[in-house]
Amino acid sequence: MQEKNLQNRSEPLPDPNEPRWGRLWKARAHPRAINCVWRVLNNSLPTRLNLQKRGVNCIALCPRCWKKEETKHHLLKECEFARCFWFHSQLGIRTSDSPELNIKKWIEELLDKLDRDS
Ligand SMILES: [Zn+2]
Repeated sequence: MQEKNLQNRSEPLPDPNEPRWGRLWKARAHPRAINCVWRVLNNSLPTRLNLQKRGVNCIALCPRCWKKEETKHHLLKECEFARCFWFHSQLGIRTSDSPELNIKKWIEELLDKLDRDS
């Protein structure tokens, strides 16, 4: 299974020695949230598309909006439900302000914002 996961990886793993990622583990957030971010960065989040690629018989469409495939980008930034969540969070983030950013860059910017605001 591990080997199969590595074959499906489309992005390089984040360098755990990079200071920014060390900050992830020290972030003032629930450990589950931090683990979820780590899973996003390692492309191991069980999105519908990832499940389908790994042989699970399921529909790849997002189960919240049914408009696009559920990728990590859609799940976290693009879906109208994600956009609503982030905007109404304490961070007040408008994901539509940075549609060109991939998830890794977007998370890096979030970590930078959290550092500036704390
Ligand atoms: Zn959606």
